[in-house]
Amino acid sequence: MHKLYDDEEMPPRLKGQRCGSCDRVAFPPNPYGCETCGAFGAQVEEQLLAGKGRLLAFVTTHHANQRDISVPYTIASIALEDGPVVRALMNTPTDSALKVNDAVESVLVGRQAPTGDAVDELRFRVSGAD
Ligand SMILES: [Zn+2]
Repeated sequence: MHKLYDDEEMPPRLKGQRCGSCDRVAFPPNPYGCETCGAFGAQVEEQLLAGKGRLLAFVTTHHANQRDISVPYTIASIALEDGPVVRALMNTPTDSALKVNDAVESVLVGRQAPTGDAVDELRFRVSGAD
């Protein structure tokens, strides 16, 4: 599967896109083009986004419909420094140490996929946390 991040640098950067016509920055990239002005093809280019942002909201889930994730886990809405708002897993199971507006950064977390393979997953953590 095509990775949506670039781990050449730490924290990993997200593979987004920028519209050359209206300057909209988006994540994930939309293969059909810009959702704001409709530009497509060569007018829309891949752009690496900083894996940094601020927490807008978060919630801890204690019941999972999917069996390939263990509970509890915390999902956050994050406003990336480059503009797009993304939803992502936090790297801590609960939200006990999180506050709205905390600075967060991306981090790769190794885990075992349902197939048994070891995979890296992009999550977020409070900036400066170990
Ligand atoms: Zn556009």
